[in-house]
Amino acid sequence: MNPENTARLLAAYPLLYRELREWGFECGDGWFDLIWYLSADIESAARLEGIPETAGSWPSVRILKQKFGSLRVQFGFDVPVSKSIRALVDKASERSTETCELCGAPGMIDRECEQGAWVEALCASCRKTHRPQRQTRDQPRPLPVWMQERNNKGSM
Ligand SMILES: [Zn+2]
Repeated sequence: MNPENTARLLAAYPLLYRELREWGFECGDGWFDLIWYLSADIESAARLEGIPETAGSWPSVRILKQKFGSLRVQFGFDVPVSKSIRALVDKASERSTETCELCGAPGMIDRECEQGAWVEALCASCRKTHRPQRQTRDQPRPLPVWMQERNNKGSM
């Protein structure tokens, strides 16, 4: 996720992401809205459950990343997280597989690309732009698309 979006999330949900590892949100910017609303939903649920807003009690996301094309969220070990909060994460994770990780448009995981390529949820247009050829076994595996984006921006 780019530095601007990362900063927005960290500023809006400082307590929730207090333990997020230094490399931040390990996915593309197309999922920004999904993560933004998931964060808000987790915090609303925690408030409804009467959890005190302190570092010792409030839910804490330690790892947030894309794996096998879907959003994965791992909470810190010190604070237990309720079933209803876990259900919110599951729902967002399901939606992520239908949301383009690059631009946020409706997308899907291309099962045919799994061989030798990253499994990613992309819309047709992003897939065309970023995955012009089918990968073969012998070619080195390219970076996940969201990392390519980041690297391109970094070199500008
Ligand atoms: Zn897209």
